[in-house]
Amino acid sequence: MSLFSPRRYQPAYYPYTRDTLPVRAFTTFERWAKGVGFSCRMCGNCILQETAFICPMTCPKGLRNGPCGGSTPEHCYVDETRPCTWYMIYERSEKMGRTARLLEVNAPLDGRKVGHETWLDLIRVYREKGHHINPFDFVANRGRFSEAWDRYFYDVRQPDWWLGDDKYHAPASTEPVSELERSLRAGRFTVTGEIAPPLTANVDPMVKKARLIHDYVVAANFTDNASATPRMSSLASAVKCLEAGLEPVLQLAARDRTRYAIESEVLGAAALGVRNILCLTGDHLRLGPGPTPKPDQNDMDAIQVLWMLRRMRDDGIYLDGREMKTPPKFFLGAAASPYAALPRFEAIREEKKVNAGAQFIQTQPVFDFGRFTEWLEAVDKRNILDKVYILPGIIPLKSAKAAHLMADVPGVVLPPELIKRMDNAKDEKEEGVAIALEIIEKLRATKGIHGLHIMAVHWEEIMPRLIDESGLPKPVREPSAVPA
Ligand code: SF4
Repeated sequence: MSLFSPRRYQPAYYPYTRDTLPVRAFTTFERWAKGVGFSCRMCGNCILQETAFICPMTCPKGLRNGPCGGSTPEHCYVDETRPCTWYMIYERSEKMGRTARLLEVNAPLDGRKVGHETWLDLIRVYREKGHHINPFDFVANRGRFSEAWDRYFYDVRQPDWWLGDDKYHAPASTEPVSELERSLRAGRFTVTGEIAPPLTANVDPMVKKARLIHDYVVAANFTDNASATPRMSSLASAVKCLEAGLEPVLQLAARDRTRYAIESEVLGAAALGVRNILCLTGDHLRLGPGPTPKPDQNDMDAIQVLWMLRRMRDDGIYLDGREMKTPPKFFLGAAASPYAALPRFEAIREEKKVNAGAQFIQTQPVFDFGRFTEWLEAVDKRNILDKVYILPGIIPLKSAKAAHLMADVPGVVLPPELIKRMDNAKDEKEEGVAIALEIIEKLRATKGIHGLHIMAVHWEEIMPRLIDESGLPKPVREPSAVPA
């Protein structure tokens, strides 16, 4: 057990290039010392000062920018025998008065540095960037000392190809690039739907569903191997949807891709006409049907993907700095999990997503309205509601069995009284519709909401009825207004 961080989940990294013998000996010492102190995995980019001295690489997903949607105060959802690393980071940051430091967008790892020593790197950066820290200032002028210290460590942890910060970066253009963006910018209450891509190579049923909901929703999301379970790719599904006349929202899970694959895929998506991209970290591989792929940590998280795609769009650059003559056009979105961590903790992560590039947020399904409003208030306190469109999630429950399964999904809270209603219902489907309509009514009357996202898991045909009976507005389409 280490002194400050939770137990190390996976062993420390080793470099794939060989250093000289003295450096290797030094690295061995560093690996041991930081292992005892922080369960260090030798990631090569230490951000302990940003994470209240708890190593984020002890998170099974290796998340470097906050908790995933499955975190709970009790345990990590990947391994229930251990605490959530990020919950511990939030709690300790709060106690130490360091929550502001959680807003900086941390870089993904640099493979060339992973496994190598970093203490010698500190000396190199100090010299190369011309830093000067006067140790006497620690007593004589604490403010000046802290400023010089922070500037130095910023240069250490933020490589030149990333330069993450804690500021909001508005999109470079206010011209809508999709129907979804145009509808939201026009101030219309906007409804999106969700269609699960097929489990087979036959797209006909999916296209039929897309046509069925075309007149009811502005755009439809296509999940990206949700629950780490393989299906048809979200990109192929999105393109088929586009051909059927309905605008897609491409869900992009960082889990299955390296940064190279993500850059390549989004350029391909843009070329194929896909404009809305919802950036996700993705469920852990453990949730999949198995045999489980080797348990490496994610190359990137959702916040890093947002940061990278925003810069591709607005600065026209790849992560490595290469320039693009024709940058892609994206309307970028993120997911939020109002019920995962405490609302004030989740709100930090939402602010970070908005700062990184999220223009709209779709949430996990709302069943507990009171807890949802707590989350919304916490988000409002962070002054981001004027920078992002919020679309809370709605799931109509198809049966009592579905309700029980839903209650077990990490990050979803289904109040016991709703489960009881489903258990006691004479007609379970009708009860599920009634519950969904009640929640829609409450959400529509809530300030700060810009629309709804209906996820009728394998029950897409219920969407038109829900929208008709709740009186939700139908889409207004002016395709010519959106640039190609
Ligand atoms: S719950 Fe999520 S964020 Fe927390 S330790 Fe587990 S994988 Fe990481």
